[in-house]
Amino acid sequence: MAIYTYKTEPLTDFNQPENIKKYEQGLKIVSNYLGKTYDLIIGGKRIKTDKQVKSINPSNHREVIGTISQASLEDADKAIQVALDTFETWKDVKAEVRADVLFKAAAIIRRRKFEFSALMTKEAGKPWGEADADVAEAIDFLEYYGRQMLELETIDRVVLSRRNLERNEYKYIPLGVGVVIAPWNFPLAILVGMTTAAVVTGNTVLLKPASTTQVIAYKFMEVLEDAGLPHGVVNFVPGSGSKVGNHMVNHPKVRFISFTGSKGVGIQIYEKAAKVQPGQIWLKRVIAEMGGKDAIIVDQEADLDLAAESIVKSAFGFSGQKCSACSRAIIHQDVYDVVLEKMIKLTKELTVGNPELSQTFVGPVNDHLAFGKITSYFEVGAKEGRLVAGGKADQSTGYFIEPTIYADVKPDARLMQEEIFGPILAVCKVKSFDEALEVANNTEYGLTGAVISKNRMNLERARKEFHVGNLYLNRKCTGAIVGYQPFGGFNMSGTDSKAGGPDYLVLHMQGKTVSETF
Ligand code: GLU
Repeated sequence: MAIYTYKTEPLTDFNQPENIKKYEQGLKIVSNYLGKTYDLIIGGKRIKTDKQVKSINPSNHREVIGTISQASLEDADKAIQVALDTFETWKDVKAEVRADVLFKAAAIIRRRKFEFSALMTKEAGKPWGEADADVAEAIDFLEYYGRQMLELETIDRVVLSRRNLERNEYKYIPLGVGVVIAPWNFPLAILVGMTTAAVVTGNTVLLKPASTTQVIAYKFMEVLEDAGLPHGVVNFVPGSGSKVGNHMVNHPKVRFISFTGSKGVGIQIYEKAAKVQPGQIWLKRVIAEMGGKDAIIVDQEADLDLAAESIVKSAFGFSGQKCSACSRAIIHQDVYDVVLEKMIKLTKELTVGNPELSQTFVGPVNDHLAFGKITSYFEVGAKEGRLVAGGKADQSTGYFIEPTIYADVKPDARLMQEEIFGPILAVCKVKSFDEALEVANNTEYGLTGAVISKNRMNLERARKEFHVGNLYLNRKCTGAIVGYQPFGGFNMSGTDSKAGGPDYLVLHMQGKTVSETF
């Protein structure tokens, strides 16, 4: 099959008037379907349920994005049965055909790019640039995993054979039925990546989207159908995490769980999955991507403008609601005041408000729960640091929180240890690069980190000693690109998997050796 080399999807240039127009058209398309109802999809059948939830625009509580049926335990059982049955045929479909579904899905999303971006602006509060990057990343996952599958299939897997006497083969086969529990912060990209990695490797899926972003998830189900994915390969099972989510995780016929979300939920899933249930004949596999408490170190010798810009962008892009977001700036004492000043200035220039307006950089946070949790750290911050920017919040129309900086925070303070998942940044002064590394490594997480330095020897030390899954030198610590910077962290940041990397797909498979004696 002729196929061009993988390249990341370009981001949209919103300085071009035609792109502004396209985005506005996207918003119009979405406005036309606001408030519709959406069903479960099990084996291709739409199922309306009694229990329904409303998806609300986080910038404007009064705007309902859609109303979505929620699965009961019986619905979940039905979906598991369908996924089990469908696995029997899907596992034998050729890799080329499975990959083709991904390539077609990529093309469909590319065609509807501005609609999907606009939908995420409305449903997830993503400003234009963030929404566009989310759609681009979804396309990347499809294009990349499709190619990865073709490669996996064509690698010559004849391992050492004693010629004439035996032939040894080694190949990967799928696992079975997987539960995909997706996050709201990359409601298209990560959901697409997790789901299609499982599907392209021959598994079938129970897809549980995050409760606040179910409409964009449903739209992706439609894309999969348009791309020709047979019914029952992915089943759409939105519902409560503590009921339906747990039920699926516990089910003895489920073979693996792919989860992205908070550390707390990740640990619970890991523990539940470890328990062997009556009738279960395997040990479940868990692929988990959890939180971060990511730091940017600014060295004594560094480009200080780059430092301030990298910190502010990483801390406040999408209101700090990325696992990769910078929530700790660790700055050498010799440059501390200058960098802090620059950061404050840049932060005060950020436009906070309605993400439907093109100039907005900081939109709302996810929902009332996020708003409550993040703003509770204002009190903590007042005790542990010096407020130098932001510090106000308003939920009268939407969940808006100002980008907030606390300076002079001590390494063991709660602000330096706990994942806040919002636009709150702690800044810590250190005496040396040694101390900077020590402080940076002093959390239970290990997802992303960055070092801004002109000192080659310090950069080399960071390469070895800064214990994070994604280390960036002289740039921001968010925005990993599929296939270029495989993404995933160490320690309590997850199971060390790397989304968008060369060994991600095999996590959804198992190796089989066949040795034939002639
Ligand atoms: N991959 C994203 C990045 O590099 C973060 C994903 C997440 O928040 O889970 O910024």
